[in-house]
Order: sequence, then C-alpha cells, then structure tokens
Amino acid sequence: MERAKPARLKFKTLAAISVLTMTAALGVAVVCQTAQGPGPFPAPKTEPPMVTPGKSDSDAPSDAIVLFDGKDLSKWRNANDGSDAKWAVKDGYMEVVAKTGDIATKEVFGDCQLHVEWATPAVVKGEGQEPGNSGVFLMERYEVQVLDSYSSKTYYHGQAGSIYKQYAPLVNVSRKPGEWQSYDIIFKAPKFDEQGKVTERARITVLQNGVLVQNNVEIYGNTWNDRPAFYIAHGKASIKLQDHGNPVRYRNIWIRSL
Ligand code: MG
Repeated sequence: MERAKPARLKFKTLAAISVLTMTAALGVAVVCQTAQGPGPFPAPKTEPPMVTPGKSDSDAPSDAIVLFDGKDLSKWRNANDGSDAKWAVKDGYMEVVAKTGDIATKEVFGDCQLHVEWATPAVVKGEGQEPGNSGVFLMERYEVQVLDSYSSKTYYHGQAGSIYKQYAPLVNVSRKPGEWQSYDIIFKAPKFDEQGKVTERARITVLQNGVLVQNNVEIYGNTWNDRPAFYIAHGKASIKLQDHGNPVRYRNIWIRSL
C-alpha cells in the first residue's frame, strides 16, 4: 500500500506533463496554421518582388516598359510595312494622322497589363462609328474600341469600352469629347496546339476611367468588322493603335509583361 503512493504520484506527474506537452503542441500548430493559412495548399516559398509604384496610379511603376512618354514614337512602327510611324507628336501626346496607317509597338508581348490614355476630338464629326474612332489592339488582333460614346450612339458591342463586335461594356463611363480618358487592361494571351487550334481563348479585363467595363471575358477570336470572330494561331505580337481617319490623341502608354 505504501509503495503504491509514489507510483500513483509518478503516473499523475507524467499525465500532467503529457497534457502540457499536447497543449503546447496544439498551440504551436494553431500559430503555424494562422501564419500559413488553413488551406491544403503549401505556403508560397518565393517572396513577391519589390515594385516601386508611380507617383499616381496612372504613372508607370518601376517594372513597366514606357511605350510612349509624350516625346517621340521611337518605340513604334507603321503596323503594315514596318516603316517609321507617321503620327504627329506635340505637347506630350501623339495624334492620328489620317491615312498614315495603324501604328504598332516594335516590341512584342503576350500576357500583360497595359495603361493607355486617349482623347477623341473635341469637335464632333459624324455619328455612329464615325466620331473619334480608333482602337487599342492587343496582340494586333483583339480590339478594345476607342470611340466618342459620350455624344454618339452606335451598336453596343461597338461603343467605347467594347471588345469590338463581341462584348458591350458593362457601363458607359465615357467622358466628353476632347477630355482625356484611360484604359487599364489586363490581358491573358490565347494558347494554341501544334495544329494551330486554340486550346485556351484569350481573356481580358478592362477598366475605363477606373471603372470596370470588361470583367475577365473570353475573347472569341480576331475582332473582325465584316465576319464572325475566329482564331488564327500566332505567337507574341505588338500592341497596335488604329488609324480610323480621326485625329484621336494618345498619351502616357505603359505596359507590364505578366
Ligand atoms: Mg476602332
């Protein structure tokens, strides 16, 4: 009987230590889960790289390529024949010179984030698809329409902020003709198999003047004017701006490859 006491004490002590140890272990587990998240996925091992933002959200961040800084067209070429871009440059902007042709970046891109500012002419000429028509083409094929949709009506999937002939903008957030507007575009390039068949369609998100107008929509193919959209396999390609015969202005264009 007397010998049993120390044994019981020993058992109690061991049990208490076990409980303490388990509690501590559980505590550590809870802390770890809080740090890494409760999900089944492993925590990322790579730290996100540092990027210095621009002075304002419309200014280029440190990892962007500035495609147009208001000074010259050295990053651009004629989209058709590769000769020098012949649009006018003055007072910090470029302006379409009618019939000189579309212009395209010399550098090619795939997935990207693109910032473009544009203004349609203050003097409104024509109606429908006429006033201030231009366009921002991703990969030279997929057009985000530029148009004066403040003063002029047209088919909805052809107005400003549309993916031309495919998607109308979610809202019409157009500013008055002559005023500067912006597009912030997030673009995912299409993928093709070895036979040239599209395996992943392009996707695009567009904010016009800071407001969402295209929400991660799937592009059906080249944005033709005169035939249904379809894909023709291609690799990386230029950003293209359209000469539709109107003196539309552009400024502060930058891009981040993703
Ligand atoms: Mg256009």
